[in-house]
Amino acid sequence: MPVADAVALRLAGSPLVVMLDVDGTLAPIEQRPTDAKVPTETRRAVSALAAADGTVIVLVSGRAAADARRIVGVANVWIVGNHGYEIIGPEGETLIDPQVEAYQPVIAQAGRRIQPRLADVPGVIFEDKGWTLTVHYRMADPALVPKVRAALEETVSALGLRLTEGKMVFEVRPPAQINKGTAVLTLGRNLGGLSDEGALVFIGDDLSDEDAFRALRSRGKAPVTVRVSEDESAATAAEFRVRDTSDVRAFLEWLPSARQRPVRR
Ligand SMILES: [Mg+2]
Repeated sequence: MPVADAVALRLAGSPLVVMLDVDGTLAPIEQRPTDAKVPTETRRAVSALAAADGTVIVLVSGRAAADARRIVGVANVWIVGNHGYEIIGPEGETLIDPQVEAYQPVIAQAGRRIQPRLADVPGVIFEDKGWTLTVHYRMADPALVPKVRAALEETVSALGLRLTEGKMVFEVRPPAQINKGTAVLTLGRNLGGLSDEGALVFIGDDLSDEDAFRALRSRGKAPVTVRVSEDESAATAAEFRVRDTSDVRAFLEWLPSARQRPVRR
């Protein structure tokens, strides 16, 4: 395991805030995002951590928070949805940044403009997530992608919104400077994971997770950051790398024992 025993000490604090991206981190990537599933063993490992004393689970996803909750299917977790634009607590309490809330009608308007323009592009899936819009093009002809990007750019600039890119997706977002990085710092602080006694680990696989890696590493040596990537040479701001969702499951299964017997050197 690339995350060495020495790291166990950095994960021994309480509370330990375990922040996990969903797609490509807990759930293997599927052609259609609606087909994504978290394997039973992974769900069991997340569930055990969520139930353990002194451990808090936070799902951090580009999906709408309710959708991330449905896919992971574990109770008693925090959820950062829509890349940080939406935060839902374990009791269902919802926190939406006021700067974001003000843009909901504009996002809806953008959806009404974009959807008909993409209707005739085969393989493109349009998803309205309320606070943001996602256009998936994993199944589209790559030659059509520039046309999709151009249509989105036109709408986004006309309405004063922001366009970002991830793994085979475009995202239309409010202009507020919110991303997974700002969200993990805010919630990590509020939950105690960035305090002197606390500990925090963040695992993710995509470009949007790099915002979180950078934000956490700006906090010094304590937070543990892990990028999921089969590509050893992939540029990342994360401190550690694991290969795939099975490695993530193994790490989550290892965590409770690592916290019981931190290696002292
Ligand atoms: Mg992901």
